[in-house]
Amino acid sequence: MAAYDLHIHSGYSSDGELPVAAIVGLCAARGLDAFSLTDHNSVRGVGEAARLARERGIGFVPGIEIDRKIITMHDIKKVDRKSVV
Ligand SMILES: [Zn+2]
Repeated sequence: MAAYDLHIHSGYSSDGELPVAAIVGLCAARGLDAFSLTDHNSVRGVGEAARLARERGIGFVPGIEIDRKIITMHDIKKVDRKSVV
């Protein structure tokens, strides 16, 4: 059975801690077949992760986790009022 982790944050995310190289090392040590780096609003670590994964023979899926605000009709009405005034 293949092992994957498709949701990993690095130090490029506000809630990540490890540098990309450490993450790839852990993925290799844990025997993952593939992983994805999914930092918040950033792909700064993707190039390094892809290179290191390739060197170690691990599959890599470039990723990103985009933060967004949920917009409600109430928010739209507020914007409309501001643009009219
Ligand atoms: Zn996340």
